[in-house]
Amino acid sequence: MYRFRKIFSYIVTFFLIANIYINVFIDAKASELVYPYEEWDIETTGSAKYLDGSTVFVCIFLNDISATWTVSEKKRVMDNMDIACDYLTFQGNIYGKKVNLIYDFTKDSGLCYDFNYRRTFPGNCSASSDDDVYELYEAIRAFIYEDIPSIEIMDRYDVDSIAYLVFIDGESDNAAAYSYYCNYSSYYEEFALIPLRWTSGYEVNPDTYAHEILHLFGARDLYTTQERNGITKDFVKYVAREYPQDIMLGYATDGVSWEDHISSDISKITAYFLGWNGYIYELEEYPSIEVEYRASFTYKINPSGNYIDYTLKGRKTDEKTYMANILEIVCCIGILIYFVLSIIKNVKNITHKSIDENIVYTDEKNPDDYHGFN
Ligand SMILES: [Zn+2]
Repeated sequence: MYRFRKIFSYIVTFFLIANIYINVFIDAKASELVYPYEEWDIETTGSAKYLDGSTVFVCIFLNDISATWTVSEKKRVMDNMDIACDYLTFQGNIYGKKVNLIYDFTKDSGLCYDFNYRRTFPGNCSASSDDDVYELYEAIRAFIYEDIPSIEIMDRYDVDSIAYLVFIDGESDNAAAYSYYCNYSSYYEEFALIPLRWTSGYEVNPDTYAHEILHLFGARDLYTTQERNGITKDFVKYVAREYPQDIMLGYATDGVSWEDHISSDISKITAYFLGWNGYIYELEEYPSIEVEYRASFTYKINPSGNYIDYTLKGRKTDEKTYMANILEIVCCIGILIYFVLSIIKNVKNITHKSIDENIVYTDEKNPDDYHGFN
């Protein structure tokens, strides 16, 4: 009995010590990782606050084992940033906002970082999986936490808003933005991932830069249904019809992408999500789009709506395929008619020839000269 009590007391002591270790050391380590961002937990916007006033962008150039950024490629990125940021400032002006974006890493090298990723960027590797993508995002987040003195940068420019733009020296089908969801336990640091080229080989233009940056300030994609943001199928159709030039539609409508300017607009719908508008009348008909906090991603307040998978991009592809099929059918019918007519014509010729052969020409003239004059 004594022996049993002794063993029992050892077990209890072990668990007590283990508990103290987990609480004191491991939790302390976790809070160390969060520091100095802990005061941000009470905010709703994420690190990129409002697209009104000043925000600093930190550019991160990701080198993987297959590609390294060159000086001229970085210059291309800076040119695109100039166009995208000028555009955002101009659009803000239209809504009476003073947008000031600080990003020029040619003047301040402290706004530019090289991140050597020791693997292959998933977009550069055809065999990539979701796990590879997840690992990349985690590596980027760790780099932001450990290698970028964010608070120091914000203090230097006297701003309270910061975002990170990660540029990939490679090709991808997608650019992406990782925004903070204030009622999720997600990361506070907001970053966008922008490749140098699409997989088609075309360079990524400044409109994509602006589109992804807008996501970091609360803008929603408008070309597809998204249940957690209240973007219903009817709303997608409505925006495409009424605001076809909105930049958050991407190329889903007839927008054209240019390398030296941005031709799309920030409509009042996107302006609402950015917090540039307090009210839009569309809230009456589409209450699911109402946001709880301005410039923030939150779960929808009024959830009802049809969120069936629907994307204008997919629809556009379907329409193109449909038109191509119709064209193919019309061509086939045309060729068929041509052959049938040819056959009929040949049959007629044979019949005429047979009749002609039976005619007896009394003056023995060549039948070809029959109607001529001598
Ligand atoms: Zn988007």
